Amino acid sequence: MGAISSEITDEQIRSALQDAHIPTLMLALVHLTGDLDLIRSDIRPQPEFLGDPQDGIEEPLQQRARELAFDIISRVRDEEGAGAGTLSESALLEMIGYLTSQDVSGEYLEFLTAELSMNGEDAYAQPALKQVDAERLAGLRVLVIGAGMSGLLSGIRLKEAGIDFEIIEKNPDVGGTWFENTYPGCRVDSGNHVYSYSFRPKNWPQYFSSQPVLREYFSETADDYGLRANIRFETEVLEMRLDEARGCWRVTVRGADDEIQVLEADAVISAVGQLNRPKMPDLPGLGTFAGPAFHSARWDHSVDFAGKRVGVIGTGGSAFQFVPHVAESAASVTVFQRTAPWVVLNEQYFSEIPDGVNWLMAHVPFYAKWFRFSMFWKSAEGLLAAVTAEDGWNRPERSVSEANEQMREQLLEAMREVIGSEPTLVEQCTPDYPFGAKRALIDDGRWFRALLRDNVVLNTDGVAAINADGIETSDGEQHDFDVLIYGTGFSASDFLTPMQIYGRNGVELHDHWQGDPRAFKGISVPGFPNLFCTYGPNTNIVVNSSIIFFSECEVRYILGCLAELAGRGRGTLMDVTRSAHDEYNERIDAGNAGMAWGQSAVSTWYKNAAGRVTQNWPFRLVDFWQQCKAPDQADYHFEQNG
Ligand code: NAP
Repeated sequence: MGAISSEITDEQIRSALQDAHIPTLMLALVHLTGDLDLIRSDIRPQPEFLGDPQDGIEEPLQQRARELAFDIISRVRDEEGAGAGTLSESALLEMIGYLTSQDVSGEYLEFLTAELSMNGEDAYAQPALKQVDAERLAGLRVLVIGAGMSGLLSGIRLKEAGIDFEIIEKNPDVGGTWFENTYPGCRVDSGNHVYSYSFRPKNWPQYFSSQPVLREYFSETADDYGLRANIRFETEVLEMRLDEARGCWRVTVRGADDEIQVLEADAVISAVGQLNRPKMPDLPGLGTFAGPAFHSARWDHSVDFAGKRVGVIGTGGSAFQFVPHVAESAASVTVFQRTAPWVVLNEQYFSEIPDGVNWLMAHVPFYAKWFRFSMFWKSAEGLLAAVTAEDGWNRPERSVSEANEQMREQLLEAMREVIGSEPTLVEQCTPDYPFGAKRALIDDGRWFRALLRDNVVLNTDGVAAINADGIETSDGEQHDFDVLIYGTGFSASDFLTPMQIYGRNGVELHDHWQGDPRAFKGISVPGFPNLFCTYGPNTNIVVNSSIIFFSECEVRYILGCLAELAGRGRGTLMDVTRSAHDEYNERIDAGNAGMAWGQSAVSTWYKNAAGRVTQNWPFRLVDFWQQCKAPDQADYHFEQNG
């Protein structure tokens, strides 16, 4: 068959091209023709318009691109052409340069080639598994904790590798955060074309899907990969103990019927997430409020807000999404804000994906792949410069560099366009810390419009205490409510709590960390061999990208570790060396110190009590991808026990 199906009609092509992302389309045309002159024309993205839906390409040029595309696509269809075949490295580099408006280094080439899977290869599969005897792999017993995004991914990869595994899940269903967070308005803030497994694209209904859509995506994934039979639901891991003599972990679990069991595993993968345990604020009187009170991740759907006075604590990603919904029916909503969030207005945040986009993804080779790459770039690598600190720039309450200052001005200008008529609100909503010090919230303006409503008040006086009737603010004023909602986030830096994990010499993991969680590559902790973390310390991202990308990299690396263990035989313990771990963490700390989130003193869940950034990855996505390709034996001690 040709690169373009002979079944498609001219009308379908013309109609779909109306919805095309032009830079992506131009690159797909190069794949069809091999003609690089197509992207050497004046139809090209403008660097200053990164983020604009057409990257600054104006309408007459867009139209020219559509006409060109129609000619090429219909010709390839009619001639049943096979496309240009594999493009050379220099062609691919030029294409990345076209898309990013930057002279990017060759380091991206390997990443991009894998992502584009031009020869049908699986971008995040672990090749080392092929070197290990299938029987040895089948003999390895792996326990995965959690059946959310990372746990399901681990299950898929373990199954593909033929490794024996079981997933322990505390909830009655899969989905993790997308199972637990059911508050109204809940949706993802990373574009779905990157917030999806590389091997499982989908015709997403919206660019940023809502919680029910994501829950369904993960549920269908579990079904389609036949994972449910490997999952023990409503079962919680309480404790894990390393059995050094036998070279395995003994894992104590409590099932739905409260039955306690001890399971054995040669290796354990933690897939419990970072934002899993709701955090209640440490306020006097917490728990004394007489009416319904709940955390956003434990939404009480029995509460009807009609006619109610509602108090909300917090203005993070969750409150930001549910407040506009609650305000529609409540008599009044008072939002208590401690720190103003940065808001990035994106007109596509609630948009449906036009049919033409999904059509192009399905029918034009490489359109979907380049679109995904462009999303990676726009939401991550392309933003890093704007959140990197400039030496000698000393304006901690505003910005960390010239580019960061410009970003500040742009975002404030966009905010003023919505709420500029209310100077007090503008002042309250203006962050007093640099962009990038906290994850910015993405919206089409409905948060600001909610704050403009007559029944919504933004209170910045500071919450002093909770009492039976409501909230007392620091100025001594009492605010009475019928309902209280805590949008106060999660205990993010208490990694792997409340599990108790006893490694070498009976040392408990949290005692070992002493409030300062660290891991080698976010995955391995010295003294805790054969325990591998996904979404562990310093693997979170501030500029958006996708945490699924990180998990795919981590799971590839972990499968490399399991290949080592299987190859060496059961009973082997694989323990990261102190020196590899310490050197790695020094590099991470130095990296974070140079970023907006490391420089600013603003309160965030990225830092532990001592102020060290325990959550974030400070470098490029391509660096994370590189470091997770495979374990280096020199970074580990291997010990044969059992
Ligand atoms: P969060 O970002 O940690 O926000 C918690 C909010 O509660 C902050 O505004 C915080 O204020 C406030 N707070 C905490 N204790 C307080 C106190 N004693 N008094 C007053 N305010 C207090 O939590 P979240 O909103 O649940 O979001 C957590 C993370 O989940 C996000 O960063 C994001 O990564 C993710 N998330 C994503 C989405 C999405 O994809 N759209 C949606 C929701 C969540 P301070 O800022 O002053 O600390």
